[in-house]
Amino acid sequence: MSDSGERARVEEIPDRIKDVWGPRTPVARGGEWPVRVDVQLAEGLTESDVDRWVQSACVLCSNGCGCDIAVKDGRMVGVRGREIDAVNHGRLGPKGLYASWQGVSNPDRLTRPLVREGGKLVEASWDEAMGRIVERSKALLEERGPLSHGFYTSGQLFLEEYYALAMIGKAGIGTPHMDGNTRLCTATAAQAMKESFGADGQPGSYEDIEHCDAIFLFGHNMAETNTVLWARVLDRLAGPQPPLVVCVDPRLTPVAKAADVHLAVRPGTNLPLM
Ligand code: SF4
Repeated sequence: MSDSGERARVEEIPDRIKDVWGPRTPVARGGEWPVRVDVQLAEGLTESDVDRWVQSACVLCSNGCGCDIAVKDGRMVGVRGREIDAVNHGRLGPKGLYASWQGVSNPDRLTRPLVREGGKLVEASWDEAMGRIVERSKALLEERGPLSHGFYTSGQLFLEEYYALAMIGKAGIGTPHMDGNTRLCTATAAQAMKESFGADGQPGSYEDIEHCDAIFLFGHNMAETNTVLWARVLDRLAGPQPPLVVCVDPRLTPVAKAADVHLAVRPGTNLPLM
């Protein structure tokens, strides 16, 4: 991205939970999406108080906005969108601004296991917590056999960890009840993308938003699921020669409300429509 674009700096963010997409920086068709650097720091701190910035990316949705993490006295104290990042041009959404670092540095974060005693959660050692899991699992296996156990697994493990999990569940305990959250999210999308477009990523470039004449959103509530990408669309809609937005969704989402055409399909009619 060149340095010539219009710039805005949004350090005084009033409440980006209410103002999800932040202020508009309109862009005309064929123009360059302006930079708008969103910054959120711990109360009372300014950017000059920060010891160092560590390059990172927000991973709280598939947009992957580039950000710098603010570090002071060895702790995370905030976050700032990277203005040179091709995805977000400096912007961050509410999750990136607040959830990406406040949760990690929150003193309420659990650091010890909790076990239930008479209906109340109390602190325990790791040995005690693991001991309880082993004891209960052994009792269930003895009483009811392998089908007493089921696994609902994460989509965030590495190959070796999935292998170990399969060995424990299927070869060790012997249960067929193993399911991963990938079946409900990314894997289905990736497979559909491969069948439709030959690759398991977005078929277009985000920069197409600055050039297109129409945006078709099929069941994609981008306004709430990829907030920074939706800000990019809003900036086109706020500029000259805005694209037409067509929303296919049975729900009255923020996308449907902003669209020129809202096709509120009934269940089972989306394929005939396509
Ligand atoms: S849109 Fe929001 S949640 Fe998604 S990567 Fe960007 S800042 Fe994070």
